Amino acid sequence: MSAPLDAELRRTTHGPITRLSFAPTAPPRDAQVSVYLVGDALVDTGSTRVSRAVLAALRDRPPRRIVLTHQHEDHVGNVRLLLDALGPMPVLAPRELIDVIVATRRVPPYRAAFFGHPHPIERAELSPYDDGDELDCGGVTLTAQATPGHTPGHMALVVREGGLARVMTGDLFTPRPLEVFFEAAIDDAVRSYRAVAALAPDVRLLPTHGRARDDGRAALLRGADELEALAARVHAEVARSGDRDPVRVSERLFGDDPMRAISGGEIGHAVFVRAVLEPVRRLPAIAVTPPAP
Ligand SMILES: [Zn+2]
Repeated sequence: MSAPLDAELRRTTHGPITRLSFAPTAPPRDAQVSVYLVGDALVDTGSTRVSRAVLAALRDRPPRRIVLTHQHEDHVGNVRLLLDALGPMPVLAPRELIDVIVATRRVPPYRAAFFGHPHPIERAELSPYDDGDELDCGGVTLTAQATPGHTPGHMALVVREGGLARVMTGDLFTPRPLEVFFEAAIDDAVRSYRAVAALAPDVRLLPTHGRARDDGRAALLRGADELEALAARVHAEVARSGDRDPVRVSERLFGDDPMRAISGGEIGHAVFVRAVLEPVRRLPAIAVTPPAP
């Protein structure tokens, strides 16, 4: 008898794209992660906490290439497993993120609890792609769209059908604007949201986490406005107080936030404040630490 699967699979179709969404069966369960099958490509590979379910779902339709949106462990986690189980295939990664993908072998404990450590990937196994590249994936073309904001180097992958753009957005879009990651740049995120919203009259969002959205343009434009309004509050508070410390500014504006301590300064309201005041343009970034007393 084979081992029980580590996640529940929900499969949905979006034109030529199949979304495979995995929810871990063991706690913590709030770690849903999606991968996408399009043509002969797999976009992102999920986390190692759902490895068995990912592999089982791909057995009957193995991809012939992998395209990665960015370097985080819930996207690159299963590259090694898939290459070993399904055989060698091209793995395309955003050019500026290849060094960090190869270098990341362990993640902090709070991230490992949610997504697991990524399995190691060798440099020779990765091929770079760039903004604007058109990737032929067995009859379906994916267009790479630079979408920094969640992290420098982040890419979205676009499938066009006339006035419709279906966009695999990785971690670009979040409906919870204050929950940004320590590699974020809010001004870049605003520009990326608006750039994706402008791709077509009808934009559909296919994110890694959370639900697929048919109201992509409206959601992105509303999200960009929301980020700008929050950033304006940060700048106003800094101008009023003369204090640029992200922890103190965030406590005054948004109150107490336990996530900063839990995440070791990688997530939380103070991280949002710093992503406004000192947007990250290059990796590696450092976590947000409280000021000396
Ligand atoms: Zn990410």
